[in-house]
Amino acid sequence: MNILQGRYRIDTMRIWQFLLILLVATVLLAGCGRTPTDTPPSITDEAPGGSEDASDPTETIVILHTNDFHGAVEPEETQASGGTLEEGGLVNLVSLIDQLRAEHPDRTLVLDAGDAFQGSYVSNSTQGELVMDAMNIAGYDAWTLGNHEFDWGQEPLRARIAQAGFPTLAANIVDEATGEPWDQVQPYAIVEVGRLKVGVLGLTYPDTPTINRPGNVAGLDFEQAEETVRRYLPELQEQADLIVVLSHLGYDGDLALAKAVDGLDLIVGGHSHMFLESPRNINNTLIVQAGAKGQVVGRLELTVDVDTGEVVDFSSRKVLVPVTGNPAAVNEEVKSLVDAALAEAAETIEQPIGETAVALQPQSTGEFALGNLVVDAMLAADVDGQLADIAMHNNGGIRAPLPKGSISFGQLYAVLPFDNQLMALDLTGEQVLRILEHSVSNSPGKMLVAGMTFRFDMSRPAGDRIVEATVAGVPLDPARLYRVVTIDYLASGGDGQETFLEGTNPAYGDTAVWAVAQYIQDQSPVHPKVEGRIVQQ
Ligand SMILES: [Zn+2]
Repeated sequence: MNILQGRYRIDTMRIWQFLLILLVATVLLAGCGRTPTDTPPSITDEAPGGSEDASDPTETIVILHTNDFHGAVEPEETQASGGTLEEGGLVNLVSLIDQLRAEHPDRTLVLDAGDAFQGSYVSNSTQGELVMDAMNIAGYDAWTLGNHEFDWGQEPLRARIAQAGFPTLAANIVDEATGEPWDQVQPYAIVEVGRLKVGVLGLTYPDTPTINRPGNVAGLDFEQAEETVRRYLPELQEQADLIVVLSHLGYDGDLALAKAVDGLDLIVGGHSHMFLESPRNINNTLIVQAGAKGQVVGRLELTVDVDTGEVVDFSSRKVLVPVTGNPAAVNEEVKSLVDAALAEAAETIEQPIGETAVALQPQSTGEFALGNLVVDAMLAADVDGQLADIAMHNNGGIRAPLPKGSISFGQLYAVLPFDNQLMALDLTGEQVLRILEHSVSNSPGKMLVAGMTFRFDMSRPAGDRIVEATVAGVPLDPARLYRVVTIDYLASGGDGQETFLEGTNPAYGDTAVWAVAQYIQDQSPVHPKVEGRIVQQ
C-alpha cells in the first residue's frame, strides 16, 4: 500500500499566524465602532438563572460552539516550571464540552461552524473520520460545512455526513441539476433546548467553488447567504422561538448578513478564526466566533422570553473558555481513539518515502539544492487540473537538512513544518517582478523559483535590482499573465509579499509537504542541484 495515500498536514500553531489573527481581529473590531443598535441589552456575570418553573416567563440556555478545528488533534505543548502545559487538543476539547454541558445538561446546545477536519496528518489521514468520531462522542447537536470539508472531494464528505450522529446543516448548497437543496444535508434543524424550540439554519462558505478544486464541488451551486436566509426565514419563524444561523461565512459575511436581514437572534460564526471575546450586537443580532484549532470553546448564555422568543439578556461570562490540559474529567472514550490514531500516525511518520543522492542543507538566502527540490515539486504538482508556469517558495520556510540516503516522512516534515498549502494564482509579469524585487530588497534573495530564472544587482537601489528575468527560457513579459504556484502563507501576504494579494483565480492544492513527498516518491533517488536560476551579479 502506498503510504502517501493519505493527505496530510501536521499541525503547529505559528506565532505569526496567531498575531496576524489578533491584529485582524483588533482592526475589524476597531473599525466597527459602536452605534446605538450595537449596544448589548445588558451583560451579566451571573450563571444562567434558568428555571424549571414553567411559570417563569423566561428560559436561559447555554450555547457551546466551536469552529475551524482544522484537525488539531494534538495539543500544543509548552514547557513551564510546573511541567508541561497543554493548549487545545481533541481530548481536552471534548472533556471541556462534557464539563460545560454538565453544568446545565437540559439547557445546552452544542454547535460547530465548520472546517473541522483539514489540518494535521492524523486527522487528514482518516479524511476527518477521527474528528467526527469525537464529535459524535461529544454530542454535538448540529454542524455546518466549511470550505475545507470539500478538500478531499464529495465521496469522503458524504461518508462524514453519514457518520455524523447529528444534522449537517447547509441551506445554501443547491443541486445544480434540480435546483433543490443538496440531498446530503438539511437546510435547518429545530432543536428543543429547555423550554425553547431553537431553529438552527446552516450556511457554508458561499465562495467555496472559487477556492477549492472544481471537481470537489462539481454539480453543486453555492448561494449567497442573504437570499438563502430570506427564503427559509418565514418557515423558521413559524416553527422556532429562537433563530440561530450557524455560519461559515466569515466575520465580514456575518456582519453583512446581520445588517441586511432582520429577525436573526444569533449568528454562530467561523472561517475567519476570530477570537471574539464578547458577542457583537448588530441590528439585534448577536454574533459570536470561537477562534480556531480547538484553543477555546465559545460559551454564550441567552435568556429568552418564552412567549415572544425575544432575547432579553445575554451573559458574557467566559464567552471564550480556554481548552487546556488536566480537564476536570478526561473523556476516556475520545482519549483511547486519539491515542490509537497517534500511535498509527507515528508509524507512518517513520516510513521511508524515497532517497536523496546528495546531502541537502537549508540556506537562508539565494538558490540552494534543497530549495530547488521543493519548488520543482511544487511546479510538478497538479493544483487545479493544470500545471503552473512558475513556482515560488520562500527560503525561510525550509527548515531542516536531509542527509544523503533514505528520507522518512518525519524528516521531510521537519524540512517543511508549517502546514502550508499550495495555492495557484494568476499574476502578471509585472507583479512577478515586484515579488522578486521585494525578495532582494533587504538581502540577496529570499525567494526560490522554478520555471524561471532571474539575475539581480545589489548595488542598484532597492526596487530596481532585478536586471534580467526569464520564464521557460524566454524573457519575462510584464504584460502577460502567468500561472504561479506558491504557498498559502505567501499568497496571503507573508514575508511582506503583498503583491501576491493582487493575484486572481486562486486555487488551493495539497500541502507543500505532501507535494514534495509525492515528488520524491516518484523521482527517487532525487539529486537536486544549484543550477543558476538565481544569480547575483
Ligand atoms: Zn473556512
